[in-house]
Amino acid sequence: MAETLYDWAVAWGKSKIHVEADSHSDEISLQVRELLDAMDLASVLFAPGDVPVYFSKAAQNLGIIRDQKIVGEELLALIRVVRRTKIAQSGRVEVPLGPIGQGTRLLSVNVTPFGDQGLLLGLFRDESEAARIDAVRRDFVANISHELKTPIGALSILSEAVLEASSSPDDVARFARRMQIEAKRLSDLVQEIINLSRLQDADPLLDALVVDVDEMIASAMHQAQFSAETREIELVRGPLINASVDGDKKQLVMAIHNLLENAINYSSNKTKVTINTSVVNGILEISVIDQGIGIEDKDTERIFERFYRVDPARSRETGGTGLGLSIVKHVALNHGGTVSVWSSLGVGSTFNIKLPVRENANKIEEAK
Ligand code: ADP
Repeated sequence: MAETLYDWAVAWGKSKIHVEADSHSDEISLQVRELLDAMDLASVLFAPGDVPVYFSKAAQNLGIIRDQKIVGEELLALIRVVRRTKIAQSGRVEVPLGPIGQGTRLLSVNVTPFGDQGLLLGLFRDESEAARIDAVRRDFVANISHELKTPIGALSILSEAVLEASSSPDDVARFARRMQIEAKRLSDLVQEIINLSRLQDADPLLDALVVDVDEMIASAMHQAQFSAETREIELVRGPLINASVDGDKKQLVMAIHNLLENAINYSSNKTKVTINTSVVNGILEISVIDQGIGIEDKDTERIFERFYRVDPARSRETGGTGLGLSIVKHVALNHGGTVSVWSSLGVGSTFNIKLPVRENANKIEEAK
């Protein structure tokens, strides 16, 4: 698509420049400017001597030109090759984000001779965001591979241990129990990876259903009940709210369940986990409050990143995958909401999910 537009633009522009060259040889025609401004590709016209004579609106923010000069050695080299060979060239160049600092912007660029005045046309597309997303994806895949290797490695070692301990039924039973734990870890991790990738693809608000907040919280509490009982932790539900939100109930329950499991996992036995709800100015706030170990300020932002754990050993002990909070964050964002945390070391943590309340929910309920 871009190629077609590009070819068309070059052909059209060349004819224009040619036609108007006689009467306005020293200026770029208004139509050419309008055309360059209308394209989503950023464009710059360079006169002989590498002087930029026109740059489109989209090009102004790319930092290709500073003080009337072309910025970036790679770009300058590419332009000079085209000037020398009179053959169009394309490639990727990095240009500095500013006069100081190490930051760069990655641009794909196409430079071609333009008209018969010795002009060159440069067409640019900012690839920085795509490159960043690519890097995040590569990072994620590398992290997943690392995370998968741990339980798989443990299973392999344990199976060898079982073989060697075949004469001792007690040892065999002990190793088999450890194998069960590692197999569960593996299946939890795979399930969370599937959950996360589904969340990244889906838009729950497109086929949103009415979700009753009290029911959704009751389901999440029900799912966390077993873990709470095992740890003798009391799950307390604050007053019911009788409100609804638009969205995907499964996803919302999963997010609240994740917060409850964390509140249980990162607290001592026999403590309390409370879940409160309130609606202020059309925004539902769900708070999960624990009396657990708390989180240091420096970690509170990072815990929503995939695979970030404050204490990897503790997370491993509790069977954590490191994906729970990034799932919560995705669910909240996908539903037009936010998630935040307040925490104090040794005192406890409060995680808040805010979601827009379904408008006129009561009227719809009444009409049913
Ligand atoms: P994990 O599977 O390791 O629990 P999460 O993404 O759910 O992964 O959480 C990331 C990290 O945030 C945890 O490893 C833990 O260090 C910290 N964390 C999450 N919830 C709490 C909490 N309620 N109290 C203290 N720390 C928490």
